[in-house]
Formats: sequence, C-alpha cells, structure tokens
Amino acid sequence: MSTYKFYEQVNKNFDKAAKYTRFDKGLLAQIKICNTVYHVTFPVRRDNGDIEVIEGWRVEHSHHKLPTKGGIRYSHKVDEDETMALASLMSYKCAIVDVPFGGAKGGIKISTRDYTESELERITRRYTYELIKKGFIGPGVDVPAPDYGTGAREMGWILDTYRQMKDDLNAEACVTGKPIQMGGIRGRTEATGRGVYFGIREACNVKKDMDMVGLDTGVEGKTFIIQGLGNVGYHASKYMEEAGAKLIGVAEYEGSIYDENGIDLEKLVAFRKETGSIIGFENTTTLKKRDDALIAECDILIPAALESQITGDNAADVKAKIIAEAANGPTTADAHEMLLEKGVLIIPDTYLNAGGVVVSYFEWLKDIQHVRYGRMSKRFDETSFKKILEVIENISDRKFTEEELENLAHGAGEYDLVDSGLEETMITAYQQVADIRKEYKLDDLRTAAFINAINKIGIMYEHMGIFP
Ligand code: NAD
Repeated sequence: MSTYKFYEQVNKNFDKAAKYTRFDKGLLAQIKICNTVYHVTFPVRRDNGDIEVIEGWRVEHSHHKLPTKGGIRYSHKVDEDETMALASLMSYKCAIVDVPFGGAKGGIKISTRDYTESELERITRRYTYELIKKGFIGPGVDVPAPDYGTGAREMGWILDTYRQMKDDLNAEACVTGKPIQMGGIRGRTEATGRGVYFGIREACNVKKDMDMVGLDTGVEGKTFIIQGLGNVGYHASKYMEEAGAKLIGVAEYEGSIYDENGIDLEKLVAFRKETGSIIGFENTTTLKKRDDALIAECDILIPAALESQITGDNAADVKAKIIAEAANGPTTADAHEMLLEKGVLIIPDTYLNAGGVVVSYFEWLKDIQHVRYGRMSKRFDETSFKKILEVIENISDRKFTEEELENLAHGAGEYDLVDSGLEETMITAYQQVADIRKEYKLDDLRTAAFINAINKIGIMYEHMGIFP
C-alpha cells in the first residue's frame, strides 16, 4: 500500500513539474496551497425520526480566477485530505483546458446506499444552506457540479435551495450539471466520458507513442478494460465502443469480469440493473479478486472509479499498454514511476477527465447569458444553407435528396455546439501538453500537463497585488 495520502500525491506530481518552471519557492507554495478549507457538521433527521450528524467539506484551492469550480462527492471515504487533493486537481485541470475558473471541491461523508431519496434531499439542501451562510457558493464565487455519488438530481436541489435564499438574477449559474429544465445544458451528463474518449483518440493518433507501446494508431480495434461503470465509465465505454474499440473487461464494486471476445455494454448495464451485479453476465469469466480486471491483458485500461487504484502493490502486474485516467488520481505517484519504467503510456487525469468542467463552463456561460446556444442562429443558418443549396441545384443538374438536404442544411443546435466546443478543447489541450513534453524532453504527459498548469496559474499570481 502506498504510504502517501492523496493530497501529498498530487503535490509530489506538482513538485516534479515545478522544477521545470521559472517561479520561485514562495510563488510555487502559493499555487500549491489550498486557499480556504471549510469543514462543516450539521444534523439531519432520518425518516424514522432519529437525528444523525453529517460531516462535509468545501475546499477552494485557488482564487487566481473566480468563480472557483468543482464537483461535490458523496462517499463514505470523503475526508479533508481527499477534498483538498481533488480541489487542487481542479485548479490544474481548469488551467490545462483553458477554463477560466479556480479549482474547488466539496464532499459529504456518506454512503448514498444508506439513505433514502428524501434523506439525501434533506442532506443536500442543508449542506447548500451551510455553503450559502459562509459564502461558499454563488455564480461569481464558487460553483459546484456533480462528482462521484451525485448527479443532476442533487444539483437541482442545490439550485432550488440557493434560489429560495438569494435574490440573484444569475442564480441558475450557481451550480452546473443541473437538469435541462433548470438551466442545465445538453451534453453535460456525458461530457466527462465523451472527453475521455476524445483524449484517448488524440493519444492513439500519435504514431511515435503507439510505436513505443507496440500498437497501431487509432482507437478502432483496440481492446479496453474499464473500472467503474458509473457516469464517467459508462459514457467513456460507450464512445470507445462506437469508435470500434472492444470492451473486454469490467471491474465494479462487486468484482471483475472478463471476456476476450467482447462484452456488450448496453446489455451489461441492463443486466446489472436487473440483478444488482455484473457477476454472471453472459459468457464472461469472473476473475478471482475484485480488482483483478486492473491487471488483466488489454490495450487500454480506463480506471473510472476512485483514486489510488493503481498503486505500488499492483503496478508491476498491470498488462495494459495505455492507462487512460478517467477517474481523479487513480494512479499513485510511486505506481506512476513504475509504469513509466515499464514503458506504459499514461494519459493523465488532469487532462483526460476535464470534459466535465469544460461543458460545465459552457453551462455556466449559458446561465449568465440567459439564452440557449444556437437559439439565435440555428434557423437563420438553416435558411441560408438551403438558399445556397438551391443555387447549386439551379446552376447544375444535381438534385439533392431529402436526406442530403437535411444533413447539409443543418443549423447547429445546443448539443452540436457543446460537442464541437468540447472536441476542440480536448484536441487543443492535448496538443499543448504534447508540445510541452517535446520542448522539455520529458518522458511523460503528466509532468507536461502540470508544467502547463503551473505556468498559466503562476502568471496570474505574478500579476496579482499582494496586499500588506
Ligand atoms: P459515479 O458515482 O457515477 O460512478 C462510480 C462507479 O464506480 C460506480 O458504479 C461504483 O459502483 C464504482 N466503484 C466504486 N468503487 C469501486 C471499486 N473499488 N472498484 C470498481 N468500481 C467501483 O461516479 P463518476 O461521476 O462516474 O466518477 C468516477 C470518477 O470520475 C471519480 O474519480 C470522479 O472524481 C471522476 N470525475 C467525474 C466527473 C463527472 O463529471 N462526474 C468529472 C471528472 C472526474
């Protein structure tokens, strides 16, 4: 087992990269430190009338840009160290994908399975109330989003609580990942998984890297294993499958399954919904230990559950040639070094799972603009395209079919624009990180991603007034 706590792990990666930057010790310490840490306890009444004390945190890591931004996690493993680590990762992630936010994270130490929906609602609303009281939430202050154990439902409760207590024209921008009807955005639910796919695709297109790991370029035909079939894991798998990759292993809470001939994702999800488990799914072999899929044979391993899954204990046994970090912090610092020595290509979390915050940024912009993307231009574009196609038909013998007309004269709606913005962001950010790796002659993308983040945040602090 690794001896480092999660926040220390993140800072080890930071320190490794910081050596390549021009900033002095003091400024680097300012970038690294968590600016504010709020620990709160509050009572909740259970359905049976009992009162229980709930423990939660909100950490704002860096105020170099405002608002700060970061998900809220519900898990029995949540603690201050984890929330600080995740908040720090958010600052670096936002900088890497040029999203103008500081990093933050929230967490409540509960296992969602132990509470009813109405209890979860009371916990979420009370937590939000505590954040409002201390100024830890607001469209220009700190904007939460979903993370492990939370989703659109919880974000909806947060917005409603905020709106009841605040007269704020921009209230809908106080939280992202909301239901569409409450100011959410099309494409947010799948955004992190979609971004994971775009990032893997970029990495798999680099011939030199693929040669290094002994694989052909492209996603098509590659085998992959996923750990965690939740929001991120499911969507990442879905887009990988659509691109022609083959899912051959899954690790979930209840155990690991494997089938080298391929696993049908949708059928597996339906099976798990029905039986409560992935174990026993058609034609799959159940592996001995719960996490054994992490060390099974495949091209790409996608950890999409929790931090510290690939550690000094199992890194030597990992057989994947590429590790695509969909979860936050799935690889410990010592495991990272061991994998590098083995020649594994690691696509780091700070870049790869940034799709969620990218689309959250689009949602926040939509909410402060009070207008849906494409609303002003979709029909205008369609009419213009149709006129151009008519001219082409008139000056040539070519007659477009109904289907062609629909495709060619399609005006971009909200989903199209969000998806295109996400794809553009993931491609550009990959390029930036790959360029830094080359410039500094580094052997890994994680250090390059950290250098990129530190350089961008450092410039902000250099120009910031330090008050006496
Ligand atoms: P989720 O709650 O939707 O899903 C997590 C899944 O992992 C669940 O199915 C759970 O049963 C499974 N799991 C838990 N422990 C496991 C274990 N030991 N082995 C195998 N499976 C296990 O959470 P999510 O939103 O998909 O988040 C997953 C990871 O992605 C987290 O690290 C989170 O911080 C990160 N992330 C999420 C988002 C987002 O937009 N949701 C954005 C960026 C990063």
